[in-house]
Amino acid sequence: MTTTPAAAPQISFEVETTVPTTHGTFAFRAYRDLVTGADHIAVVATRPDGSAPGGGALVRVHSECLTGEAFGSLKCECGPQLDAALNIIHEQGGVVVYLRGHEGRGIGLVDKLRAYRLQEDGYDTLDANLALGLPADSRQYGAAADILRDLGIDEIRLLSNNPEKRRQLVEHGIVVSELVPLVVGVGADNEGYLDTKRDRMGHQLPGHLPSDG
Ligand SMILES: [Zn+2]
Repeated sequence: MTTTPAAAPQISFEVETTVPTTHGTFAFRAYRDLVTGADHIAVVATRPDGSAPGGGALVRVHSECLTGEAFGSLKCECGPQLDAALNIIHEQGGVVVYLRGHEGRGIGLVDKLRAYRLQEDGYDTLDANLALGLPADSRQYGAAADILRDLGIDEIRLLSNNPEKRRQLVEHGIVVSELVPLVVGVGADNEGYLDTKRDRMGHQLPGHLPSDG
């Protein structure tokens, strides 16, 4: 009997090192994306019994967001989402797959700021991209699926509100047994942004979002 060889992975594993953080200590595994040239990181925490996260692991597939994560921008909730994901994964064991080259849902930093400028004139987060002739969301998750497979994980509980992320991971051969909601960092400055993600982009968010200011 012959078996069909699996498609060549889109990523190559480069190095693993242990890094203490304010969220706890993790293994950082660096990967190179052979398609886009970006460097991605898998941040891995063992389970409470010390075992490596395997099948059914809690996983956050997180898109790089310089403005939200490095500068604390309140226009999105990426910073608080990443913080919360690292805390949960440190506690329960699991992986944060951090994908670079995903700034502004894939349009890049400069066009993201161009879209913000249009939002000052009243465009919502989706229409601003479209007005610039850019896709609403061009992020691809094939690299994330390959990184999970490299970790020996082919079934996950996905920490996300985004059904499109789930759909793509499933398309790339990862079983997503559960979508675990991650609703944090909601405030007056990003309510409209989150409403658009819910009403126009299919994100699973509460109908009336709580505001913390
Ligand atoms: Zn963001």
